[in-house]
Amino acid sequence: MARIELQSLSHSYGSAPGTSAAYAVKPMTMVWEDGGAYALLGPSGCGKTTLLNIISGLVTPTKGKVLFDGVDVTALPTERRNIAQVFQFPVIYDTMTVAQNLAFPLGNRGVPAERIEARVRTVAAMLGLTGELRRVARGLTADMKQKVSLGRGLVREDVCAVLFDEPLTVIDPHLKWQLRGELRRVHRESRTTMVYVTHDQTEALTFADKVVVMYDGEVVQIGTPQELFERPAHTFVGHFIGSPGMNVLPASVERNVARIGGVAVPLARVYPNLAGRGRIEIGVRPEFLQVRSGGEGLPAVIKRVEDAGRHKIVRAEFNGVALAALVDEDDSVPETDVRFVADPDRVHVYADGVLVGG
Ligand code: ATP
Repeated sequence: MARIELQSLSHSYGSAPGTSAAYAVKPMTMVWEDGGAYALLGPSGCGKTTLLNIISGLVTPTKGKVLFDGVDVTALPTERRNIAQVFQFPVIYDTMTVAQNLAFPLGNRGVPAERIEARVRTVAAMLGLTGELRRVARGLTADMKQKVSLGRGLVREDVCAVLFDEPLTVIDPHLKWQLRGELRRVHRESRTTMVYVTHDQTEALTFADKVVVMYDGEVVQIGTPQELFERPAHTFVGHFIGSPGMNVLPASVERNVARIGGVAVPLARVYPNLAGRGRIEIGVRPEFLQVRSGGEGLPAVIKRVEDAGRHKIVRAEFNGVALAALVDEDDSVPETDVRFVADPDRVHVYADGVLVGG
């Protein structure tokens, strides 16, 4: 297990690293605490795999350092970093049995035979592979092969960290659900530092204690699932996490009132003068917008109402901007004089996408 530190780290694959657009990972300094379960979440191309590969040693950063427990490992190759990795697609030996595949990372390091056997049994049981131990890997389904790959990543107990790169991509949806739970349990028992790359918010939020959200080469927020939901540090986090994502509306803000298209929206906090701070927006999650008839609020025009199981999603438009509100399945949606009313405590203010403290 290890505390992983990234110091003034950045990476550019191109030949013009002077421009910020050329960076796959923009300059960052951060710490991954020893024993933490982290998810690295973001859309395709935001730099997740590059960052993971820098931690594993597959990519050497253009600038900055990687430290494991205070030791600079930036120049060390992957095999000298004492990590386990699980990739998107199975990495196993087709001609070996499942048991031999699981035993391989241990046998390779001279672990005694009885210990190997015990560990192989434990990991196989964890992943539902006990009945398959004697089968040759070649004949397994893609799901099974990936489970073996996961097992190979989890079998060693002495690693600094286990790094997962979208490990459940080839797994069928039902099994995905089950394996996510298993990985969470394995983490709780082993307390090994784990970093799990995914673009799927459900995967990230169910696996991790802390989610690291990346956008365009930058880490825009590190937080618990609850923090990301309640206080998105960037409009991107608000959009990306939640279903539907946070409503973001261009606004002007004066002290504790926001104005959108001439309509006042009360805020729970007093804000400083934001002149010169760039694009000002307010953000409010659909969960914290009520739909009423008459009174104060944004006179939005309802476009459609979607059935989402326990909720209805009311899709509307105000001042040329799309809005969504969540309404309980049993509540009726008003049809006349419609007003969208935000809970002032849940309205956030953003300047150029970044959360402003009130
Ligand atoms: P995905 O989920 O699609 O893998 P990602 O968030 O993991 O995306 P990266 O694969 O790290 O993102 O890519 C970040 C940026 O770096 C992208 O613009 C990508 O095109 C670029 N990139 C990645 N690998 C290389 C490479 N070997 N050479 C040049 N550019 C690369």
